[in-house]
Amino acid sequence: MNPAIDQLKDLIDKLEAEHVLSGQEFVSLIDGRTSELSECLFEKARRIRQEHYGNDVYLRGLIEFTNYCKNDCYYCGIRKSNGRASRYRLTKDQILSCCEQGYRLGFRTFVLQGGEDGFYRDDVLVEIIRTIKAHFPDCALTLSIGERSYESYRSFYEAGADRYLLRHETADPAHYGKLHPPVLTFEARKKCLMDLKEIGFEVGCGFMVGSPGQTSEHLAKDLIFLHELQPQMVGIGPFIAHHDTPFAAEESGTAELTLFLLGLIRLMLPAVLLPATTALGTIDPLGREKGILAGANVVMPNLSPVEVRDKYMLYDNKICTGDEAAECRGCIDRRISGIGYQIVVDRGDSKQVGGDSRKFDSDSKQADDAAIRNFNR
Ligand code: SF4
Repeated sequence: MNPAIDQLKDLIDKLEAEHVLSGQEFVSLIDGRTSELSECLFEKARRIRQEHYGNDVYLRGLIEFTNYCKNDCYYCGIRKSNGRASRYRLTKDQILSCCEQGYRLGFRTFVLQGGEDGFYRDDVLVEIIRTIKAHFPDCALTLSIGERSYESYRSFYEAGADRYLLRHETADPAHYGKLHPPVLTFEARKKCLMDLKEIGFEVGCGFMVGSPGQTSEHLAKDLIFLHELQPQMVGIGPFIAHHDTPFAAEESGTAELTLFLLGLIRLMLPAVLLPATTALGTIDPLGREKGILAGANVVMPNLSPVEVRDKYMLYDNKICTGDEAAECRGCIDRRISGIGYQIVVDRGDSKQVGGDSRKFDSDSKQADDAAIRNFNR
C-alpha cells in the first residue's frame, strides 16, 4: 500500500468528520489525487448524498432570458465587448411560456438566468417574479442575474423569489483580478452573497475549475470560502474557452478535477444541492452522469426557446443548444435512470439545517390557487 495514499485517505476521513481542512491539507489532496483516491472519495460522497437525498436527482429548468450584459468578464462569451454576440431579450410572456412548458414536463424549479442587463429594472423583474409565482405557486424560483444592491435583492425576495445563484468564481482577490476587469472585485461579489443570505434567499455560489492562472492554492481558498459561506447550492464546472474572448487560446479545465472537487464539496457540505453542470457535460459526453456518481444531485436542463439557445453561448461547444425542452427532459431522464438514480417531480429544496424557511405548504397553496384564479396575464 502506498503510504502517501493512506495519508490522503486519512484527510478524506477527516474532511468527512470535520467538514473542513486547512488550506495546505486541501492542496495536498488536490495535488496528490489518484484514481484510487478519487474512487474512495466518490464512494463516501455517494453514501452521504444517499443519506440526505436518497436516489433522487432534482431538476432545475434554466431560462436564459437575456444575453445582454454590462460587464466584461474576460472568460464570458456574452461579455459586452463581444460585438459578434447576437443579442436577445425574452418578454414576460415568453418567459411564462417557458415555465408553462417546463411545468408540464415536471419541472418545479425555474431558474431565471441572464447577464447584468439594465433593461430589466427592479420593477420589471418584480413584476415577472410575481407573475411566475402566482401562476406556479408550487414551484421555486431561482434568480441568477448577477450583482445588485441590497434593496434590489430584498425587493426580489419580497416578490417571491426563493433562491439566488451567484458564482464567486474565485475566492482569491488577485486571481479574481485576472479574470475580471478592475471594476469587478471579489469583495463586492462576497458582499452580494452575504446580503443575499441575510435577506433569506437559499444561496448558491461556485467557481470555474481550471480557469486561467488558477492554482491548487486558489482552489483550496475556494473550498474554505464555501465552508465560511455555508451556501445551500454550489455550482462548479470546468472552464471552457470562448473563441471571442481574451481567453480564447486558454486551455480548458478537466472533468477529472471537477469531479474530484464535487466529491470534496459533498463531504464538506453534506446536504448541499450540487449540480452536475452543463459545462461538465460539454467537456465529457458522460460528464453529468459522472457528476452524479461523484456526489452531485441536481441537473439543469434548458427551458429557453430553441431559437435563442445558441445565442446564450458563455463558452464554446455548449451542449443541448438545438434540442427542444421535451427532448432535453427525456434525454436527461434516460441518462440519470441509466446510472440507477431517478429524476423527481419536486421543488428540490435544500435539506440543510437552517436552510430556507420559505417552503411550500398546503395552506399557502390554497391562497396561491385563489391568486391564480384571479390572475389575468
Ligand atoms: S460572466 Fe456574467 S457578468 Fe460576466 S460578462 Fe458574462 S454574463 Fe456578464
